Amino acid sequence: MSLAEFALIDRIRARSKGRDDIVLGIGDDAALLQPLAGHWLAVTADTLNSGVHFPPETLPADIGWKTLAVNLSDLAAMGATPAWGTLALSLPEASAAWIDAFADGFFALADAHDWRLIGGDTTRGPLSLSVTAFGQVPHGQALRRDGAQVGDDIWVSGTLGDAAGALALWQRGELDVTRPAADAETEFLRQRLLRPVPRVQLGLALRSIATAAVDVSDGLMADLGHIAARSGVAAHVDADLLPCSTALQRVLGSEAARSCGLQGGDDYELCFTAAVTSRRRLLALSGELGISLTRIGAMLHGEGVHCPGSGAVHGYVHFLSPPMAAGDQS
Ligand code: ADP
Ligand code: MG
Repeated sequence: MSLAEFALIDRIRARSKGRDDIVLGIGDDAALLQPLAGHWLAVTADTLNSGVHFPPETLPADIGWKTLAVNLSDLAAMGATPAWGTLALSLPEASAAWIDAFADGFFALADAHDWRLIGGDTTRGPLSLSVTAFGQVPHGQALRRDGAQVGDDIWVSGTLGDAAGALALWQRGELDVTRPAADAETEFLRQRLLRPVPRVQLGLALRSIATAAVDVSDGLMADLGHIAARSGVAAHVDADLLPCSTALQRVLGSEAARSCGLQGGDDYELCFTAAVTSRRRLLALSGELGISLTRIGAMLHGEGVHCPGSGAVHGYVHFLSPPMAAGDQS
C-alpha cells in the first residue's frame, strides 16, 4: 500500500472514536471487540458501487451517509442495536478532500447511532464502498424473515417509492443529485434517495411485536416476497393501502407513485408482520416514535406475493436489471 493510502486511513482514523467495548480499534491487523453477555451478534455486509447503486456524480458526503445507512437498515430489520463495523474502500484516486467529505456523511450517521468504525481496507480501483456492520440482539429476540404466521397483518413504516421516484426523475434528466431542487416536493424525494434514514429505533421496538421483518431495499414486492418464501405463507397486499407521500404523488402522478411504491427499491423502510392483536400497540408505537406505520395487507395460506390489479411486479435484481446510467429508462 502506498503512503497516500496510509494518509487516507489516518484521516478516517482521526474521525473514529473509541469505546469500552473496543479493546483494540483501527491500526492493528484486526480489531478486538467485547460483545455484550447474553447477546447474539447480527452481522451484515452491503456494497455500493458507483453507477450501480448511486449516480456517479453523487457528492461524497451523500455517498458516505448512504454507505452506512443501508447497513444500519439491515441491522434495524434484525432488531439489532448497531455496534461496530468495518469499511472497505475502493477509490480511483487518493483524494484527501474526497475522503473528508465522505467521512462527514458517514460519521454523521455513525455518531447518531453510536456505531463505531473499527477497521477496514483501502485500495485503488473503481469507486466502491463496502461496510460490514455488527449489531447486538438479546438471545432469541432477533427479527427474522421466517416467522410470519397465517392471519398476521402486514405493515410498512414511512412512505414507499420516494427514492425510486427521485431516481426516475434523475434518469429523465429532471433531477440534479448534486444540488437542492427548486421545489420542496422534489427536494423531499431527492433527500429520500440520497439520505435514507435507517429505522433503528423502530426495529428495536419491534423485537417484542413483529413476527417477521425485512427492510425495503429492493422494492416492497421483492422484499415482502422474502418473508413469504421463508415463512412458507402467502402475502396479500392491497395496493390502495400503500403509503405513498404526497410529494411523490404530486411530482409523478398517482399511477406512477403506486408503481414506485410497489416495486421501487432504496426506501429502507421496514416491512413486517404482526398478529392482529398487536394493532393497538403498533399504532401507539407509531405515535411514540413519530414514524407512520401502515397496515397494507395480510398473510394467508399459500405462497408468493399477491397484489390484485398491480400487474407484473418485481424488484431490482442484479445482473438482470440494466446498470444505472443517465437517460436509462429502466
Ligand atoms: P493490513 O495490511 O494488516 O490488512 P492495512 O494496512 O490494510 O492493514 O490497514 C491498517 C489498519 O487500518 C487496519 O487496522 C485496518 O483495519 C485499518 N483500515 C484500513 N482501511 C480502512 C478504512 N477504509 N476504514 C477504516 N479502517 C481502515
Ligand atoms: Mg495485517
